[in-house]
Amino acid sequence: MANSLYDVVIIGAGPAGIQAAIHASRKKTEVLLLGRIENSALYSAHVENYAFVEGVQAGADLLAAGHRQVERFGTRIAPLDVLKIAQAGDLFQLELESGEEIEARTIIFAMGVSKKKLAVPGEKELLGRGVSYCVDCDANFYRGATVTVVGDRSAAVDGALTLLGYAAKVYLISKKLDVSPELLNRLRGSKVEVLDETWVKAIEGENAVTGLQLTSGAGLATDGVFIELGSKGALELATQLGVMLDSEHFKYIAANRKQETNIPGVYAAGDIVGPPYQMAKAVGEGCVAGMEAATYARKLKQGEGA
Ligand SMILES: Cc1cc2nc3c(=O)[nH]c(=O)nc-3n(C[C@H](O)[C@H](O)[C@H](O)COP(=O)(O)OP(=O)(O)OC[C@H]3O[C@@H](n4cnc5c(N)ncnc54)[C@H](O)[C@@H]3O)c2cc1C
Repeated sequence: MANSLYDVVIIGAGPAGIQAAIHASRKKTEVLLLGRIENSALYSAHVENYAFVEGVQAGADLLAAGHRQVERFGTRIAPLDVLKIAQAGDLFQLELESGEEIEARTIIFAMGVSKKKLAVPGEKELLGRGVSYCVDCDANFYRGATVTVVGDRSAAVDGALTLLGYAAKVYLISKKLDVSPELLNRLRGSKVEVLDETWVKAIEGENAVTGLQLTSGAGLATDGVFIELGSKGALELATQLGVMLDSEHFKYIAANRKQETNIPGVYAAGDIVGPPYQMAKAVGEGCVAGMEAATYARKLKQGEGA
């Protein structure tokens, strides 16, 4: 890379990072966007709930369009992961997977979250073709269909209850439900059919999900399976810097309405600051983070006499 000191380094090339890059670049700052689009949660999504874009859009196409836009505004893009990060005075030092070391006046964390996987045959192969990790995103595709939610916690029960508004039949597969008595009552009073003390052994289907094999030995015909096992944030880098996590779950970065973290010059946006996991929210937070980081970097530069 030509430069080794950037005003704004954005870690994560999904919707939050892309929007942050656009807004930071337009403030005439040196911006570097790091990360791979194919690792964005949006890559395998089909989006129909984002304003101004009509019809169902492939997430991969939206990301490619975002990257073209970012390049037009002069941001450098490198499809590289960041391995280490440290603070040195007013600057941040980053080690990239290429072995390069770079410095930044400000950092924006936009690394998203990764959903916990079932790790069974068919899950990876049928992702986006009946396998989903997001009820809010995909429920509308299952109007009148039979769907199955897998999970033991409140996200799974909430998801199953939400799906009742769309699907003709909703199953919930759980080893052992672990939810509040109120939620359990709502579930019991609903039309969700709970199959407990069993789990998924395999997801079946050629081009789309057709059914599940359960550990009980039974088979279950279903058009879709929603895996709701929770998420894990990509937090290792942030915690290397001493960034504070949210006080309730300890798995998201705590950020205020300016997307500032507890460390001056460090911002966070998108899924990594918590749900709802939606492109519209990621883009909005990315916009704020990009503008704030660029302003901070400019002030720092003025102080340096640069
Ligand atoms: C199947 C599916 C369907 C969905 N459907 C919809 C929908 O219909 N509507 C909607 O609004 N939302 C939908 N979503 C949610 C939406 O995709 C996410 O909310 C959104 O992508 C979050 O954006 P983000 O930028 O925060 O993170 P992500 O898009 O996940 O991007 C994270 C980025 O961080 C990078 N990264 C991670 N670690 C590092 C590192 N160490 N160094 C460098 N880079 C790193 C990754 O490579 C990636 O580029 C869906 C999600 C899924 C999984």
